[in-house]
Amino acid sequence: MKAIIYPKPHCWKYQDTPTPQPGPEDVLIRIKSCGVCATDLHIYNGEFISRFPLVPGHEFSGEVTKVGDKVEDIKVGDRVTVDNAIYCGNCEFCRNNKEHFCLNFRSIGVTQNGAFAEYVVAHKSHVYDIENLSYDEASFTEPLSCAIHGFKLLGVTPGAQILVFGAGPAGLMLLQLAKYGDCSLVVIADPNYCKLDKAKELGADFAIFADRSDHVKNREVLLNIAPLGYDYVIDATGKPEVQENCLWLVKKGGKFLVFGLAPNKSTVRMNPYELLIREITIIGSNCQLYDFSAALKLLKAGLIKVRPLITHKFPLEEFGKALEIAQTSHEKLKIIINP
Ligand SMILES: [Zn+2]
Ligand SMILES: [Zn+2]
Repeated sequence: MKAIIYPKPHCWKYQDTPTPQPGPEDVLIRIKSCGVCATDLHIYNGEFISRFPLVPGHEFSGEVTKVGDKVEDIKVGDRVTVDNAIYCGNCEFCRNNKEHFCLNFRSIGVTQNGAFAEYVVAHKSHVYDIENLSYDEASFTEPLSCAIHGFKLLGVTPGAQILVFGAGPAGLMLLQLAKYGDCSLVVIADPNYCKLDKAKELGADFAIFADRSDHVKNREVLLNIAPLGYDYVIDATGKPEVQENCLWLVKKGGKFLVFGLAPNKSTVRMNPYELLIREITIIGSNCQLYDFSAALKLLKAGLIKVRPLITHKFPLEEFGKALEIAQTSHEKLKIIINP
């Protein structure tokens, strides 16, 4: 089969590679759609928990073309998506319902071969039926699951006022979850007008231009909307300089969610006095844990709209163009690869 391979960091190839074969409990999936994620750029740079050589691609959907002898509920021709996270089931964390911290954590497209390829193999227990959802929409199940996980960690209460930094695909899904989850005020901030327009279309009460070099001005504008600060502030940019300034916008007793993935060794400065006086809770959100069912239900019901988030689509052989746009364009949202 044809696949994109990262032999090592900062290097990719489009080449022939053996088609993976399903074991007795596995299914073979012909990939129809795979989203390019900010995490894929971190992996390309050799960061996160990636292992090389690697076929990347972890947000995908496709058609089942072969099933192992011990697979009964999934048939050839089924339209599916896959929970890419793989847990050992035996470690301290797996035995305490915290499988996403598994000491032997593996992930399709991150630590083992993924879906920027014609085929991928997955264990039957990780396969989800997408029914009539389009393949492109279904490839959002994984990133939406991560957004749901973060949202659940916040424990959002009805009527809350929420601020999201970053109007990329993750920020725009978090924004929709906030609207859907009874928040009384949903504000999104980004330095790009195209993305802000999209945020307004998707229900933001305020979509605020926030130049990342002028934090004093940003604070002033955002506190003008919510003078006491926001019950919940979410960083969906992964930029330490943005995260550092989020704390000042959290209301007393509020929570700050670190959702965007920052470079492994980055640091931020914070004011411990303010943190203490204002009793601010800082929460990290790492991937997802059994959130696929909820994500699929929201997508199937049309409550979270992801079609407007797709700005580019490329065949597998044009992966280079996708990577280029992912690295340089400020106006891109989700880039989809259709092998
Ligand atoms: Zn992703
Ligand atoms: Zn484990």
